[in-house]
Amino acid sequence: MSIPTEPVGSLPRPAKLQAAIADYDAGKITKEELRVEQDAACKDSIERMEATGAPIVSDGEQRASSFATYPLADTLAGTGLADNLAGDGQYFAIFTDGHHRQLPRLTGGPFKYKTYAADYLIEAMKMAHKPLKQAVIAPSMLSLLYPLDGEIEGYSREEFSEDLVNECEKDIRKCFEAGATRVSIDFTEGRLACKNDPRNPWTGRKMLEQFVELNNRVLDRFSPEERKNIGIHTCPGGDCDSTHSDEVDYADMLPSMFKMNAGYFLIQLASEKDKEYVYKLCGEHSREDANGVPQVCFIGVINPLNPTVETPEQVRDDLVTAAKYIPIERLGSTDDCGFSPFSIDVKPKHGSPDVARDIAFQKIESRVKGTAMASEQLGVA
Ligand SMILES: [Zn+2]
Repeated sequence: MSIPTEPVGSLPRPAKLQAAIADYDAGKITKEELRVEQDAACKDSIERMEATGAPIVSDGEQRASSFATYPLADTLAGTGLADNLAGDGQYFAIFTDGHHRQLPRLTGGPFKYKTYAADYLIEAMKMAHKPLKQAVIAPSMLSLLYPLDGEIEGYSREEFSEDLVNECEKDIRKCFEAGATRVSIDFTEGRLACKNDPRNPWTGRKMLEQFVELNNRVLDRFSPEERKNIGIHTCPGGDCDSTHSDEVDYADMLPSMFKMNAGYFLIQLASEKDKEYVYKLCGEHSREDANGVPQVCFIGVINPLNPTVETPEQVRDDLVTAAKYIPIERLGSTDDCGFSPFSIDVKPKHGSPDVARDIAFQKIESRVKGTAMASEQLGVA
């Protein structure tokens, strides 16, 4: 069994698609006209990802407003917001370069997704020739839709949590029903929960443990066989080539993260200062038996925020080092994050989203080649 490799999910939206989204927000084009651009971007994303040799691909999340808001709104500007939501929710992240991203605010119940990730996947399946993965958002992120303090009149926090857990379970089940080979849950808020940023009040509330508990409420609804193919993605954020929590010591986060009963983890690591330290933590805290499934650690070997393309040899060497700490049968490779988790992203360090797309495919090719080289060297090819 060679070392498995898998992307996180997103790719930069082509400049043409980003312009179409702006036109749609401005009422200059129809939803159907926007869809033509989304279709073209998805097709290009899938074809080019397949051409890298990657065994599992995605549609690059080209139709999603963002990794976190796809169930709630058609665009990041809030066009087509779901029922019982207002645009002015809390920040979920303030990034190092000073920009921030905001969630909607829940105004009442019941809480329902407007769009499921499978709605995108069904379209992608028609275009793909290789197995597809789909990323979904974690219930812990969407729990931040509910006000931090107090209760919404007529819709208690517990009623909301129950609706949320039901919707997240449905989101995942629909992906598998639509043909997803793997489904990973984006959990960027996990690491941010370990940082106390006074400008962003929820980060100072020590919410990591309750996030883990909430996410396990969803995971525990799946059998061990199903959970083998359900992953969790952790990262310090990746938007406009900037991060929100890379100063947080992984030792504060990973022991809790591995309490989630998922079968695999996609872990940002290529951009860590001391990778070996984190490989060791993964080896120590990932579990051989997480309620019936072994936890496979997919280590990040590609940095989507840096335009310099990693060589296959660098990827190989990272995996060979990681194998000193993580059992080979529980080791995989991935990218540190999606290449553009938000639809509107000019990728400033890359020069443009179109250049960033070209670079992303080169990086994915290096990941695939380097992972095959590591399998060879470690005797599992
Ligand atoms: Zn990420």
